[in-house]
Amino acid sequence: MREPCPSRRFAADRTLGRLAKWLRLLGADVLCDPSLDAAQLLRRARAEERTLLTRDKRLRTADDAYYVASNDFRAQLRDVMARFPLDSRPAMLSRCSRCNGELRKADRDAVRRRVPPFVYASQNEFGACDRCGHIYWNATHPERILRELNAVLSGGRPGRGLERPSEE
Ligand SMILES: [Zn+2]
Repeated sequence: MREPCPSRRFAADRTLGRLAKWLRLLGADVLCDPSLDAAQLLRRARAEERTLLTRDKRLRTADDAYYVASNDFRAQLRDVMARFPLDSRPAMLSRCSRCNGELRKADRDAVRRRVPPFVYASQNEFGACDRCGHIYWNATHPERILRELNAVLSGGRPGRGLERPSEE
């Protein structure tokens, strides 16, 4: 069996949307398109040399797919990170978690009308998704999210409200 592709390129089946989102937050390139059926997704994954992450037991033995056993996204994330260690630091916040587009540095003045005034006033660096145009800044992923993520990855207590960071 050949070594799985060491790069951070995955394709996730449609049941793994939440996992895909978190992997993107870690900088991985994750194709996850609910409009693709299983066969189409597998074809795309192979053509683009992506490791397919799947809950489909029939693909358990395929050497370019990785069967994700758990139903719980926290366990899935731990599982995938253990199997495909990502040095996430450099790549973190380089991908749009919504659409997998790449974030590019955006001119501060150009985003002025597109972010809340307090954000404009308090942030110097902005990124814009080159696909959907969503604007990101450092505080978009506040420390609490990163703490939750660390807890997930270290097998700590599951956190609540992982995707709703603004309750504090
Ligand atoms: Zn986007």
